Amino acid sequence: MPTDSDCLFCKIVAGAIPADTVYETDSVLAFRDITPRATVHVLVIPKSHEDTLGQMAADHPAGVADLFAAAREVARLEGIEESGYRVVSNVGADAGQEVFHVHVHVLGGQQLGPVGP
Ligand code: 5GP
Ligand code: ZN
Repeated sequence: MPTDSDCLFCKIVAGAIPADTVYETDSVLAFRDITPRATVHVLVIPKSHEDTLGQMAADHPAGVADLFAAAREVARLEGIEESGYRVVSNVGADAGQEVFHVHVHVLGGQQLGPVGP
């Protein structure tokens, strides 16, 4: 499984940095964001290192589908599947991507503001 020794999320996958895991499969890990910006704020990542969602969509589209399926499962486990939730991914600098290991944010448990800058 490709890993990047300098990558924060690869270290979480390896167990070298602790995380509050809420869901896991062979290919995906979901854990609570360390700085939650909603009542529910979970990050869903592939266990295999890829830099951005855009690159993953080009190289490994089935993996992208796995992330969204896992996001739905997280919403179900967190009890927000019916009330609604947001799945969002920052891709690159202008979007404010801080960690260059693919992740989608699952946000919910409250009324969310509009998507925008
Ligand atoms: P980005 O801005 O790249 O889309 O989101 C990165 C997210 O990772 C941020 O929401 C940030 O709070 C979260 N984060 C950064 N470092 C850690 C960490 O060590 N543990 C966890 N659980 N989340 C982190
Ligand atoms: Zn990584």
